[in-house]
Amino acid sequence: MTLLIKGGRIIDPSQQIDMIADLLIDGGDVKSIGDSLRDDGAEVFDARGSVVAPGFIDLHVHLREPGEEHKETIASGAAAAVAGGFTSICAMPNTKPVNDNASVTRFIIDKAREAGLTRVYPVGAITRESNGEELAEMAELKEAGAVAVSDDGRPVMDSQVMRHAMEYARDHGLVVVDHCQDLHLAAGGVMNEGRYSTLLGLKGMNRAAEENHVARDIMLADVTGARVHIAHVSTAGSVEMIRRAKRQGLAVSCEVTPHHLALTDAAAIGFDTNTKMSPPLRSEEDRAALFEGARDGTIDAIATDHAPHHSDEKMFEYDRAPFGVIGLETALGVALTVLYHAGAVPLPRIIEMLTIGPAQAFSLPGGTLAIGSRADLTVFDPDREWTVDPQRFKSKSRNTPFTGWRLRGAIAATIIGGREVFRSE
Ligand SMILES: [Zn+2]
Repeated sequence: MTLLIKGGRIIDPSQQIDMIADLLIDGGDVKSIGDSLRDDGAEVFDARGSVVAPGFIDLHVHLREPGEEHKETIASGAAAAVAGGFTSICAMPNTKPVNDNASVTRFIIDKAREAGLTRVYPVGAITRESNGEELAEMAELKEAGAVAVSDDGRPVMDSQVMRHAMEYARDHGLVVVDHCQDLHLAAGGVMNEGRYSTLLGLKGMNRAAEENHVARDIMLADVTGARVHIAHVSTAGSVEMIRRAKRQGLAVSCEVTPHHLALTDAAAIGFDTNTKMSPPLRSEEDRAALFEGARDGTIDAIATDHAPHHSDEKMFEYDRAPFGVIGLETALGVALTVLYHAGAVPLPRIIEMLTIGPAQAFSLPGGTLAIGSRADLTVFDPDREWTVDPQRFKSKSRNTPFTGWRLRGAIAATIIGGREVFRSE
């Protein structure tokens, strides 16, 4: 089976490629890139006017299965992923039951294979049931296919447990992913602590609650030599600490979400519970620091923190609604609109944060169009405008803060192992 992608702008930051060319896929792998490649009976895909990039990789997705299939299933999440251009996603372990053992890990891998869409890499728990006390069997998780460990959403508060977790993870070649939040400092908070929380009369979470754990994790990365990935950085202070840690040569990486790039805590005016997430939307200064981190390479990855919730749950008053928003199907449009079209970050750098950046952070395959690598590709139109209509999402959930937004940048096709798994109408 051969597929010839003709005339697209091929951008592959892993090889510093940015050129108009053809790309030939044969037997599921990238066969060649060049001018006027001959089709010789290959199926032809006309990519003129589109960007052809390595398949996008999302390090942070909540698939909700097992346990909360009314919010999302592995199949519906995988469909949302390919509609958003993601050929690989990492599934967070806070399912019911928690992915703290090989049987849950294998269940996720089997279900993902059945769905036959995006590649799904499970993230195992750091501690049993993510209770923050006893370490999970990381050797067993790794053996079953987990690529990293995290207690996302229920951060490990005990620093000694975290230290041991890092030592254990290091010995098993696993990255430790942390949702950095001092639960005592953040207790009761529902949005960023600042002018708007005062204005709205809502309890705030101070940036110190995040930065406290970012600082701790960097110190522990130094002490243990472990690889540490800071999930969804949201404050200027976090970005600066990570920048310094990288300069020091520590194995620290980080990700940012599209919603933290696009929105600030001012969005909570009107009490739309789709502006409630953890970490919360921050101030304009924090947002500017995230942009700077995206520009200068401090930020490795754009990750969605796709967190489906049923509309009945999000319908509660702001204080009681659950944290989290979905993001797989709006990630590219939001990223291009706020970073690229606004003139803040060049297109190849944005693609880097969606491809080789996340691949390297977790040592995942993919993220490149190198000859001989498997043909995972995302084809998108960087200029096509569309309006976000949650009713059209493949995700089972609708909790997006971007309803009605006019976005510029749309997925044209998603190809995995040479097979087209999504094409826009
Ligand atoms: Zn999180």
